[in-house]
Amino acid sequence: MTTTHHSKVLTQIKDKPGKYAKYKKHNVPKERQSGKTKRPCVRCGRFGGHIRSFSLGLCRQCFRENATELGFKQYS
Ligand SMILES: [Zn+2]
Repeated sequence: MTTTHHSKVLTQIKDKPGKYAKYKKHNVPKERQSGKTKRPCVRCGRFGGHIRSFSLGLCRQCFRENATELGFKQYS
């Protein structure tokens, strides 16, 4: 089984309780205390390219799309 997210597999095997429990025990990622997965983009949910300055909480793509609306101005 090759999937992009573990929840897709859990929906596939929900009718097989033995496999469900085993998959959940060994493959569901644990809840993190810190790190990049604790800070997804508030707009799209991306983890990479995160901007924490001014407590924006946006990824770089969302920042680029909304920068002028947020009041940022490009000088160069
Ligand atoms: Zn984003």
